[in-house]
Order: sequence, then C-alpha cells, then structure tokens
Amino acid sequence: MQRNLNQQFTYIMRRRGLKNTSTRKEVFEVLCQAGKPLLLKEIAARANASHPSSVYRTLPLFEKCKIARKVSIGFKTLYELGDNFTNHQHYVVCEECGRIIRFKDSRLEYMAHKITLAAGMEPTGHFIELSGICEQCQQKMTFRDKITPCSSERGSTRVSYNG
Ligand SMILES: [Zn+2]
Ligand SMILES: [Zn+2]
Repeated sequence: MQRNLNQQFTYIMRRRGLKNTSTRKEVFEVLCQAGKPLLLKEIAARANASHPSSVYRTLPLFEKCKIARKVSIGFKTLYELGDNFTNHQHYVVCEECGRIIRFKDSRLEYMAHKITLAAGMEPTGHFIELSGICEQCQQKMTFRDKITPCSSERGSTRVSYNG
C-alpha cells in the first residue's frame, strides 16, 4: 500500500517535471502517516525539516498537483492527502476540544451537487463543515443540560466513521 502511494507520488512529480527533493518526500510521507488534516506548522514539525519555509512552499505546490488538499476548519487551514490519493472527505468538529471525526455520506454529496445545479452552476466542489460536542466533552459538561441527539435523526443517518 505504502509502496503504491510512493510510486504514484513519484509518477506525479515526474509527469509535472518536478524534482523529488527530500523535503517534498518528507512532506508527502507526513501526509500519508497523518490520518487527519494537519496545520502547516504541524507538518513542518513532523517533517523534521531544517527549513520550515521549504515545507511551507511545498504545500501550495502539492495542492496544485492534487497531492494535497486544503481543508478549512473554523478559521484554520489544514492539509491532508489530495484527490490523487484519497476522495475528498468531510468532518464533524467538536466545538469544545477540536476533535475531528471524518465521515462520508453519499447523500450529502448528492445534495451538494443538486443544490449547485439548481443554482444554475456547474458543480466544481464544496466546503461543508459540521460542528458538535463530542462524547467526552458531553460527559464533562455536567454543569450544562445534557445534550442528547434526537433519536429519529440518529436512526436515519448512515455515516461511516473512520476518524
Ligand atoms: Zn470534544
Ligand atoms: Zn463532499
């Protein structure tokens, strides 16, 4: 699996005529291992780069090649593996602790597509952010009314979590 990813990466870089520098390789490795979107500074720290600025320059380049994808959560910009490696994802973010749960829901994709078409536009993409309070934070919130999800809503949602 990892080997295939590396081959794919090398192929994309070569096709674009880009040099496979050690920083670029490191950043790609970090994105592969992360399993969740990371901040630029987190990527720089994990990539162990002697010059963080080279990491900062790598991400926009990766974005152009669809090796990486920008994810906006709140006011933060994070990065994860791009369309050349994974389908785009959506997240539910805990308002209290920032925990991120990834999900896929084909109905959401369908609705986003339909709504864009209904607006008279050719769909090119969408940014959807969902927020909530995670289970652990709910338990800590003894001072507030306990938040319980509406049971009918819970039953109708078919979501595959892999956060
Ligand atoms: Zn939380
Ligand atoms: Zn989507």
